[in-house]
Amino acid sequence: MKAVVYDQPRSFTVTDVPDPHAGPDQVRLRVVLAGICGTDAHLHDGQFDPVYPLTPGHEIVGEVDEVGEGVTRLRVGQRVVLDNMQSCGMCSSCRRARPAFCNELVAQGVNAPGGFAQYIVAPAGKCHPADDLAPEVAVLTEPTACVLHGLDVLGLQPGSDVLVFGAGPTGLLLAQLLRHSGAHRVTVAAPTAAKLEIAARHGADETVQLDRADPGAGAARLRKLAPEASTWSSTPPGPSVCSSSACRSRATAAPCSSTA
Ligand SMILES: [Zn+2]
Ligand SMILES: [Zn+2]
Repeated sequence: MKAVVYDQPRSFTVTDVPDPHAGPDQVRLRVVLAGICGTDAHLHDGQFDPVYPLTPGHEIVGEVDEVGEGVTRLRVGQRVVLDNMQSCGMCSSCRRARPAFCNELVAQGVNAPGGFAQYIVAPAGKCHPADDLAPEVAVLTEPTACVLHGLDVLGLQPGSDVLVFGAGPTGLLLAQLLRHSGAHRVTVAAPTAAKLEIAARHGADETVQLDRADPGAGAARLRKLAPEASTWSSTPPGPSVCSSSACRSRATAAPCSSTA
C-alpha cells in the first residue's frame, strides 16, 4: 500500500509499504479520510515524541476492510471512526482513570502507524460506527472528543459567561458545544477575522479580533464586554480542552464572569 512515511523530522516520502493485516480482535480499515491538525505540524518538526519510521494521521474515518479473529460486532464495509489512543489499563495513570496519560500509551499516528496511508490496522474496540455520517463530518470526531473532555473538565455552570481563546477547529467546536451546554454568552477571541466570522455564524454571541502585535487592544475590548471579569486578563486559567498527548490543543475556555 501507499503511505506517508517519515524517517526523521521534516523528512518524509509517499512510498510503498507492506499491506498490514488484522490480527485477533483487530480490524483493517481502508482509510476514507484522515484529518490534519496542529499535532501533525508538531510531528513534522519532530515534536510530541514521534517514533520512526512514522506514518502520521490520528483523525481517521475508515471502512472496515478485513476482520480479525474474534471480532463479531464489526462487519466488512462498515464505516467507522477510530479512537487512536490505546492505554495499558494497568499503570498508575490508567488506574486513576486517566488513560490519556498512560505510561505505555500507544497513539496511532504519533508513536504507532497512523492514517496517512491506504490502510490502517486497529483494535476493533477502538472503532466506533459512523453509520451514514458524511466522512467530512465524521472526521471531526476525534477533535470533538477532545473538546468534550475539555467541557467535562470545565464543569460549565448554566448561565455562565464564557470566553474562548482561539478559533481554529477545536475552538470553533468548543464554542458551539458551550452554546449548547447552557452558556449564557459565548465570546470568541482570536487573530483571524475569517475564523471569527465562522464562530459568529455558529452561535458565538461576541467575537473579538486579537492583534498579536498589540495584545492590549484586544484586552481592552474584552474588558469592555465583561467589566467584572477577573480571570481572562492574564493567562486564562481554564483547562486546555485537550489533554490527549496526541492532540494538544491551544484553545482554552474560561468562565469570565458569572451572570447566573
Ligand atoms: Zn496505562
Ligand atoms: Zn488532532
